[in-house]
Amino acid sequence: MDTILVINAGSSSVKFQVFSIEGEGRLRRRIKGQIDGIGSRPRLRASGVNGDSMADRAYPIEAVPDVAAAMAIAGDWLRHELRIDPIAVGHRVVHGGPDYGKPVLIDHGVVARLERFIPLAPLHQPHNLSPIRSILAAFPALPQVACFDTAFHRTHSAVADHYAIPHQLHAEGVRRYGFHGLSYEYIAKSLPQIAPDIAQGRVIVAHLGSGASMCAMKSGQSVESTMGFTALDGLPMGTRPGQLDPGVVLYLMSEEGMSASKVQDFLYRECGLKGLSGVSNDMRELEASADGKAALAIDYFVHRICLNVGMLAAALQGLDAFVFTAGIGENSARIRARVSERLEWLGIALDAAENTRHSRLISRSGTLVPVYVVPTDEELMVAQHTLSLLMNRPSTNPRQERVP
Ligand code: AMP
Repeated sequence: MDTILVINAGSSSVKFQVFSIEGEGRLRRRIKGQIDGIGSRPRLRASGVNGDSMADRAYPIEAVPDVAAAMAIAGDWLRHELRIDPIAVGHRVVHGGPDYGKPVLIDHGVVARLERFIPLAPLHQPHNLSPIRSILAAFPALPQVACFDTAFHRTHSAVADHYAIPHQLHAEGVRRYGFHGLSYEYIAKSLPQIAPDIAQGRVIVAHLGSGASMCAMKSGQSVESTMGFTALDGLPMGTRPGQLDPGVVLYLMSEEGMSASKVQDFLYRECGLKGLSGVSNDMRELEASADGKAALAIDYFVHRICLNVGMLAAALQGLDAFVFTAGIGENSARIRARVSERLEWLGIALDAAENTRHSRLISRSGTLVPVYVVPTDEELMVAQHTLSLLMNRPSTNPRQERVP
């Protein structure tokens, strides 16, 4: 069985999925797994297609100190216990910088270029690159593909790509990139099947998960995003504040005495729903809480989503459809209802029963702007890109090197 391994490596976890390649290049998900608790309480968990557990093992902290060690354990488990021998590996990489508007086959030159973008995503890019480097060293001929969260937004116009700062900084790469691109690309590719009449229209997609952003799409292409230079901007998130007056950062440094790295840690880990509520970064816990500050955090989340919908609708000069996706967007009927209520002025009206059932189409029939719930699948996107680059690369035997 030919397979593709998809890797999504973060600071404290390595997530992986295995897809088999079926007839006519169709992909079928076989295994979903992760090693989390890297450097604290490492644990390998994996399940098969039906959700049946295939592994659940704890490791001593010293056995899994970093992403490279976690990758080695996952790789050993796949190779030696499951005899899985992928013909290519696809990676989710957060930043393709100004250079990459499409996925790319990895070689040493690509790795060197991606290393240049570490300052643009210091908490994500190094972890994304770690398994790429270790696989490149151990299996130099095994094709690897990098798929970028920024790539889908490279269609932005110059005004959407700039900040009002001296041009030299834009040339250096200080731009409004936008993120969650693999999720938006999946939705853009799914819409022609789900709603062919609006797929070519003006659509706002709300990716509401522990990271959250929204994308304005016209004819399936990104024209604006709530995120910018980093994944800190835009909507409030689990632990990130979203849009913040840069003066707050100056205040933290000058009045609170925080160093740049302390501010970075604070903005990525201590703010957002967690900071505002003091209860949790997890929407399920906030919804279940009776604490007034949890309610305030939810109110703020809804408020900022609705303000930003106005901004994106202005960028699109109107709205033909709205899509909810990711953990909160797919599962919280309450958040969807509250956001939709505030957007009635745009022509949105929910069907309460369809919303509670988490149906695909949750707006009332005949409303001006239909509202959809579409589960996203970033890993499938990575697997599809990997297969397509593998098939279209210059004549080499895709099976020339297998992971032994
Ligand atoms: P993600 O990053 O896409 O996995 O989304 C994670 C977020 O989705 C967390 O804030 C979860 O609390 C939230 N979430 C998942 N399921 C539900 C649910 N049934 N109701 C509300 N929020 C949910």
